[in-house]
Amino acid sequence: MLRRSTSLDSCRRHELPASPPAVSVLASKSESSDKRDMYTDAMRVFEEAADLVHLDRRIRLELEEPDYEHIFWISARLQDRLVPIEGVEADTYADLPASDIQDKGSIEPLYDGKLILHAGALRSGSVYTREGVIRLRERGVFRIVRGQEERFKAYRIQHNKVRGPYKGGIRYHQDVSLDLFKVLAAEMTWKTAVVGVPLGGAKGGIKIDPRLYSRQELEAITLRYMYKLKNLIGPDFDIPAPDVGTNTETMAWLYRQYSDGERSPHHLRGVVTGKDVRIGGSEGRLRATGQGLVYCVEEWFEQKGRSLAGARYMLQGFGNVGTSVAELLHAKGAVLVAVDDADGTIYAPEGLDVEALVRYVHRTPSNLKRSVSGFPGGEAISKHDFWDVDVDVCIPAALGRAIDASTAERLRASLVVEGANHPTTPEADLVLANRGIELIPDIVANAGGVTVSYYEWIQNKRMEHWTEGDVNARLEQAIKSNYRLILDIAANRSRKTATYDSSLFVAGKTLPVRLAAMVLALRRIEAHYSLEGFSQ
Ligand code: NAD
Repeated sequence: MLRRSTSLDSCRRHELPASPPAVSVLASKSESSDKRDMYTDAMRVFEEAADLVHLDRRIRLELEEPDYEHIFWISARLQDRLVPIEGVEADTYADLPASDIQDKGSIEPLYDGKLILHAGALRSGSVYTREGVIRLRERGVFRIVRGQEERFKAYRIQHNKVRGPYKGGIRYHQDVSLDLFKVLAAEMTWKTAVVGVPLGGAKGGIKIDPRLYSRQELEAITLRYMYKLKNLIGPDFDIPAPDVGTNTETMAWLYRQYSDGERSPHHLRGVVTGKDVRIGGSEGRLRATGQGLVYCVEEWFEQKGRSLAGARYMLQGFGNVGTSVAELLHAKGAVLVAVDDADGTIYAPEGLDVEALVRYVHRTPSNLKRSVSGFPGGEAISKHDFWDVDVDVCIPAALGRAIDASTAERLRASLVVEGANHPTTPEADLVLANRGIELIPDIVANAGGVTVSYYEWIQNKRMEHWTEGDVNARLEQAIKSNYRLILDIAANRSRKTATYDSSLFVAGKTLPVRLAAMVLALRRIEAHYSLEGFSQ
């Protein structure tokens, strides 16, 4: 396990009088050591870069913990459900006549096999119940469970806004925690600085598995979330966007709730980004994270003098980011040989048919899990074997900590590109470096989304609508030029043209690419504190 260096360490190294450590991270005593490790791990690169650039102690203190940690509870009323019953219990209802519900739309299947009963569902056909149990033709026997109120834990962590309004996604997932959101919010501060957009960092969401709730319930929960969030955010203060478990529809609900009853709601459109293009979203936003990642990959191949066409890659996650990456890399002639998601893993040594896979996962109504599992054009393999597949590029685009030291030992790739946030543990970083496997770190590889979110925000402010060509041209410039800066910092190489100057950022020695990216972020953040000073 790596030991995190502290301000105390840096004071000793620079032979300043020792003062108490500037690290309240370590002081969050109520949190379990596991959770503390997550934040400690994530801040390790920050601490290292801060030491390296001799970051002013006051700036370090400002950045080590978030500005605000909002945790609150929201409640919503759930709908009636049909809960499947099986075995002996179901047998006791063998003589119950089968019911036919005429309006098929009044029943909504959920991921866990339960069915949502929309209003009037049990009045729309020939329905027979006994003791609150119903038999549905061709579906089975179910207990009718009346909808109740439920409470959910909600978060918004605002890490830093010295460079511009807080900015970061809204995640709906069952495994979120304060520590996770702190990690992700800080990551947004570094990311917005790395791509040079005038925004800060935030993150938030709800502890919920959205697959277990109906669309109507998710709307009600989202509206209530915004009802409580409204005093804490705003188009010039904190701007949410989609993340895992949320999408353009969630953003539309958030926008509506925020602007409801306001005199000029259209001036408030910029309160969220990642909206549908028909209601103020930006062209290119849906694919922007994947597009940014592909620009990085293109640049890496170009600098190596290698061809992307024919390169073999593996992908973890086939959601928003994974799917766009697959489509865009397919267009470049790269070959997708394995995909792993939450519910399955598939492999095809000659390459998967990406178009057919996208149709199978995202346009097959019966594929409720939206999973690659069962795709007929690939062989099912175990999650374990996924990491042994021989490829040129490995793209983790699912959740954090996917690549640990033992996984890193087995990887057979030349390059890891971090589509997800924090998919590689610090121990795995060392293993990859020792094995000569290169890395494009998350704070540049997946920064395309927030970059185009910034373009969406500008378009909303100006009441403009840019073409996808305009958006992508700007995105390509932003991602590639900043990635080049990072590579220059890593190689300790100063290069200067009329529009580009890496000499401002190099640290006087070669650095790992992840550390180089953090140096770029810190130098840009530091400039604001140094030039603007601190309000008292
Ligand atoms: P998504 O919810 O659309 O998709 C997530 C994917 O990960 C799904 O395919 C899911 O099956 C898979 N997955 C979940 N748990 C898994 C597990 N244990 N093992 C394997 N696969 C698993 O989410 P997304 O928007 O595509 O985001 C993916 C990652 O990219 C996240 O880490 C997110 O923070 C990061 N990211 C997203 C954006 C964006 O614009 N959407 C921007 C920057 C970073």
